[in-house]
This record gives sequence, C-alpha cells and structure tokens, in this order.
Amino acid sequence: MSKIVLGDYYPVYYGKPKDECGIFGIYGHSDAAALTALGLHALQHRGQESAGIVTFDDGLFHAERRMGLVSDNFTDNKILACLPGNTAIGHVRYSTTGSSALKNVQPLFADLSIGGLALAHNGNLTNGLTLRENLVNEGSIFQTTSDTETVLQLIAKSKEKSIVKRFIDSLYQIDGAYAFVTLTTKNMIGVRDPSGIRPLILGILDGSYILTSETCALDIIGAEFVREVENGEMIVITRSGLESIKPFPVRPKRPCIFEYIYFARPDSILGGHSVYECRRKFGQELAKESPIKADLVIPIPDSGVPAAIGYADTSDIPFELGIIRNHYVGRTFIEPQQSIRAFSVKLKHNANRILVDGKKVILVDDSLVRGTTSTKIVRMMREAGAQQVHMRITAPPIKFPDYYGIDTPVKDELLASNKSIDEIRSYIGADSLKFLSVDGLYRAMGFPCGRNAKHPAFTDHCFTGDYPTGLIDQSSKEKFHQLSLLS
Ligand code: AMP
Repeated sequence: MSKIVLGDYYPVYYGKPKDECGIFGIYGHSDAAALTALGLHALQHRGQESAGIVTFDDGLFHAERRMGLVSDNFTDNKILACLPGNTAIGHVRYSTTGSSALKNVQPLFADLSIGGLALAHNGNLTNGLTLRENLVNEGSIFQTTSDTETVLQLIAKSKEKSIVKRFIDSLYQIDGAYAFVTLTTKNMIGVRDPSGIRPLILGILDGSYILTSETCALDIIGAEFVREVENGEMIVITRSGLESIKPFPVRPKRPCIFEYIYFARPDSILGGHSVYECRRKFGQELAKESPIKADLVIPIPDSGVPAAIGYADTSDIPFELGIIRNHYVGRTFIEPQQSIRAFSVKLKHNANRILVDGKKVILVDDSLVRGTTSTKIVRMMREAGAQQVHMRITAPPIKFPDYYGIDTPVKDELLASNKSIDEIRSYIGADSLKFLSVDGLYRAMGFPCGRNAKHPAFTDHCFTGDYPTGLIDQSSKEKFHQLSLLS
C-alpha cells in the first residue's frame, strides 16, 4: 500500500464549506511540482486563501498544503524539494479564514484499499451534505468539512475493482458542479460534471498532459492548449496515453456564465471565447441598452476595466482611470466578515480626484452582489467632487444564490433579491443605475436572439433562478440542521 508524507497537522473544526477554486495537474514531467506551482500562481484569482500540491514518486505520495498565496509558499526550492516525482496535482482555494481551515486545504488524500488517491475539486456539490449524513450514519469518519471528502469516502466504499470504476461509481451518486483532478498510483484523472458548469481544459507541455481550470495556467508555463474537457467527460491519463470516457447519460452543456462576467481571468479563453472580449461586449451591449450623457466612463478596477472600455467605445465617451486600485490587497469578497469587507474596499480603491472633480461620471462594474463596492465608490466619487454619478453594471441583477462554487451570499444578502432597481440605486447613492439585461448578456456572447429559455447555452441561475441540477441539500433545511448537530 502507498504511504503519504504529510507536511501538516489537521485540527478538527467544522465550519461552513466554501469553495472558489482553481485546479492544475501534470502527468509525467520532471518538473511536475514547480510547473504546478506556476500553474496555480496563474490561477490565484480563483482562490487566495490556501494552496496545496500533491506529487507521486516511487510509490509514495508527497503533500504540502499551506494557508496563503502560492507565491508566498511554493516558490522556495526547499518546499519544492519536498515534492518529488514527475506527476503532480494542485489546488488554490478560497475557504474560511485562519489555520483552522488548514484541514480543508486541497488536494485531499486518502489511502484506499486499492492504493492512495489525491483529489482536487473546483465546484460545489448540491447533495454533498445529504450524502455525508448518510455516510456518517453508516460509520464514515470525516476529517474535513469539505464536500470533496464526501467523494473520497464514496470512492473508498465502492465495491468496484479499478480506481476508474470506483470513481465513476461515486460520481453517479453526486450532483452539482465539479471539475476534479485526481492523482492515483497509476494515473491522473480529470472529470467535468454532466452540465460542464465549472471549466476544465486539457493542455500539453513537452509531451506531458496537463489538466487545469483556465488557459492562463498553460500560458505561464508555455504549454499548448489541446481542448476543453467536455461536459460529462472523464479523461484518464496513464503512461500509455490518454483515454476519454463518457460515463454519464448526456445532459445539455451549460457552463457557468459568471466565469465570463467575473470569475475567469480576462486573458483566458473559455469555451472558445476570449473572456476579455466577452467583458468588452457586455459593456458595449449595456451602452446600447442604457445610454446616458456624461463626461467620463470610469471602470471599477480591475474586473470592470474591459467592460468599461466596451461601454466607452460604444457611447463615444472618454474612458479614464478615475479610480486607482492598490494592487497589494486581495479581492473584496475574500474576507468573510461584512465589517472587514467594507474596510478593504477603502484599502483597495482611491479616487483620481483631478479627473473626477466637477464631472458627470459613469462608473462601470462587472457585477453587484451585496452592493458594498458600489456604495463605497459612489461615495468616493462624490467626495472627489463628481457632479453626477451613474452606475452601470455589465451583468443582470443577481437575485439567486450560486450553489456551484462561486461564493455568492445567501438570498437575503443579495441586494437585488430584496430590492427594486430604484431601491438599489437609492441604497448605493447613484444618480442612475442600470444593469445589463439577460438577453443582452446572451447577445454579447454571440446569441443574436438573446436567451433561449428552453435550451439556454449557459447556466445563468444567479440571474434567472434556473438551476441546471437538483438542489437536494438546499431544499432540505432539516438535513442541514441535523448535520451541523452531527458535526
Ligand atoms: P458587492 O461589493 O458585494 O456588490 O460585490 C460586487 C463586487 O465584487 C464587484 O466589484 C465584483 O467585481 C466583485 N465580485 C463579484 N462576485 C464576486 C465573487 N464571487 N468573489 C469576489 N468578488 C466578487
């Protein structure tokens, strides 16, 4: 049986599972760990609280998991020396804060009867808690609060003989969003859920296959893009090459549209679309839908920049950097407490007073969730002397929570689920507020007739409430409660 060399101690603590993640795996390369660290660095925007790498070498798995950024933890040769082997998988994650979350840092590892298995997951299961409850009742002992561990437990319990069949057996029981990269003693396996909600792509470097969340992770190491892993596809990479398996009944492909709006890096290509171009087109479309006369178009940096360029192009109003961003702070959402989140908005942005003073400005941001950012920035613009402040959001109002791995808050905290557009306008203190329509979003993505209600090309549940999977945990509050007692 394989052994694991762990770099960390895992304290037991149960909290709310949260996932916003990036994954990377490379099979059969002499620099596997270093390349994985670089890939994870390129995916850092997908999760900034923790990172981990597991490698396999000569019958042993090696794992290093750390709280914090990849560049703070995985650039040291000493740590890379602890990760020998020519196959590696890695994970960056946004989870709860503090060392107490260390036990949830992925890749997770289990020593199974048929050998060791490391698992990295981007996404979120919608029946993970229900399955977990059943497993706990049957005697499984969970070490983490992550739904990813549920999959490990299911693999461990499967009666199938091979690791691939056991994995498929466990995937049949789960529902929700997932892109997994798995490392075993024999292979590296990647799989994308039947709707393809979270991204997973295949690349190649020096003949070694790579599975990762975004193309920017290939660019950083000079790897070539091969193709996207399809919805419901499993890719098994061994020494003899690559095998594609389609184990699930076919479901329509519905990648998450929020990847294009906010989550993915603008230099990535997703589903054949440049994320940057999509954002620019969202801005162009919104300028057509909701024009207004003003002196300047100002992006809320950084994520609002491509959309603001698009808005300024189409409206023929000068684009200016009226807000300067301090790059030495993370994304606003990363701090889970509302009080700290508000504080970090001030840390992050400052008005470029000389541009703004006396002007009518149009602020462009990619999304509005709780309204924290917009409220602060509108106030900041007024304090800097802006005469009028018009807010333009290049996404529709977010009315429904995401259960698939993007950390949007519960419904009550989503401003647009509780307030009308005019109430939101008044709440954030803007002179006008407009959102991109759902049809406008689709038009910008290349669907001239807008959203096809019967067969939407994306999952847009945050805006429409049309979830592509079952929501077993979410519709079963009692189970939640019972489970938190169990834990
Ligand atoms: P809020 O300030 O709560 O209205 O959130 C909107 C701001 O957060 C926008 O500037 C977005 O760019 C950004 N944002 C949207 N979704 C997320 C997310 N899941 N994680 C982190 N930031 C986000």
